[in-house]
Amino acid sequence: IGSLWVVATPIGHRDDISARAIETLRKVTLIAAEDTRHSRPMLLQHNIGTPLVALHEHNEREAVASIVRRLEQGESIALISDAGTPLISDPGFRLVRAAREAGIRCIPVPGACAAITALSVAGLPSDRFVFEGFLPPKSAARRSRLEELAGDPRTLIFYESSHRVVESLADMRDVFGAQREAVLARELTKMFETVIGEPLSQLALRVANDPDQQRGECVILVAGRGEEADAKLAEGQRVFAILREELP
Ligand code: SAM
Repeated sequence: IGSLWVVATPIGHRDDISARAIETLRKVTLIAAEDTRHSRPMLLQHNIGTPLVALHEHNEREAVASIVRRLEQGESIALISDAGTPLISDPGFRLVRAAREAGIRCIPVPGACAAITALSVAGLPSDRFVFEGFLPPKSAARRSRLEELAGDPRTLIFYESSHRVVESLADMRDVFGAQREAVLARELTKMFETVIGEPLSQLALRVANDPDQQRGECVILVAGRGEEADAKLAEGQRVFAILREELP
């Protein structure tokens, strides 16, 4: 019986792929990829000539059955997505589930993930966080999702498409409040990488006024509830302590 290797690929910079990932992708007999035309050039850059098969939302059911059959026959197969870690807002969940149910070993080969990459430089609390993936595209559904999250004390991490970033930041400002701290991490590991952190009102305004900030790929991170409230409380206590000293 073969193994399913779940392999992370770069999210931008071509060298952000591990030596073990390259070795694995060379030695397996088949690579299941989200979009074979997209992955082929990246694989060729690393001299990986392994045959590819498509595994995406629209063919997942049939593709999973055929890949699991091949694994059961003893082949070692790798799963990759267009970028970053498979299954993280990307296809693969059904394949991994079916493989595990069939008793096939699933071996992770870790690497880039935009959510974790963004969190590592955002300067927001990272001891507890929630990954929310993509928000609903329509504003009403997006706002109700944000309302569910408004009281969460953990750092919130969202993926967003560049053509919705303005609307999403405006909804976040309205639901979480103008002062809530947020970070926009754009084009990570690429030429125009930018990481901007400021209160939601400022960030929403800046992005709305600057078309350059509406391009490329982005992660939005929002401080959990309480961070700024706690900071205000501490500041209040500091001022009160000073005043108390001065009072007769
Ligand atoms: N599987 C990927 C991962 O591990 O991060 C995520 C795939 S998801 C379809 C694509 C989304 O991830 C983009 O819309 C964006 O929100 C985020 N993303 C991917 N690459 C990025 C990058 N280089 N900089 C910022 N965000 C990125």
